[in-house]
Amino acid sequence: MEHPYISVSRIRCYLSCSLKYYFRYELKLPSPMNGALLIGKAVHSSVEAALRLKAERKIDMPIDTLMDVYSQNFHQLLLTDNIDLEGKERSDLKDTGYGLTKLFGKEILPKKNPAFIEHEFNLSFENVPYVFKGFIDEISEDGVLSDLKTAAKSWSEDSILTDMQLSGYCLAYKHIFGKLPKGLRLDILIKTKTPKTQILTCGPRDERILERFLRIMGNTVALIDSKIFVPSESVFNCSTCDYGEECRKF
Ligand code: SF4
Repeated sequence: MEHPYISVSRIRCYLSCSLKYYFRYELKLPSPMNGALLIGKAVHSSVEAALRLKAERKIDMPIDTLMDVYSQNFHQLLLTDNIDLEGKERSDLKDTGYGLTKLFGKEILPKKNPAFIEHEFNLSFENVPYVFKGFIDEISEDGVLSDLKTAAKSWSEDSILTDMQLSGYCLAYKHIFGKLPKGLRLDILIKTKTPKTQILTCGPRDERILERFLRIMGNTVALIDSKIFVPSESVFNCSTCDYGEECRKF
């Protein structure tokens, strides 16, 4: 049996709708990959390859090579069994991701100095009976923790201050390295007609926020262990949920 673990995605899923959490992580019902997820995964894995090269050899992947990597990743993902592009054309989705990856290669990659890429953590905390798992996208040589996002529109400037994923990763960084990161950063690739980038930065989280995240994680695990799962019906939650049919039988 799989040892139970918690991650920021799992916490977010549980807090958005506990029944959705139950379908996804307890029953493990399949969830099809949609167009946005396809683009996000293809871009993310291509950027990861470029950052790994830079971390290991201190060189920028040439744009042509990066675009070849993107194309291969995109087509590989199309072979995934459970995929639902919701009527969107593959070529349009591919072009969107192509534009985002190219922009990353031209505008962001040259200024990066990565030391660790996809840094895995498995941590235990006294108040949390599950292992806290995750992967930090990138840690720079000077200790800045970065996460890459693809988004339909720009984020508000202060959204980085309350982003739960960065709070969780900041806590993980502190436990791995014995100190806080130098700063936090979001590299956002925006899927507008002409793609653009947005970079948000801030200092590390203070102790109060880290303790708050620990409490959120501990209490979420306690709720999961209570085995009480309730539909949290709202247009916002349900319009993107893959489990509508199962939910109606609740
Ligand atoms: S359809 Fe809505 S209420 Fe039902 S599981 Fe999904 S998000 Fe929750």
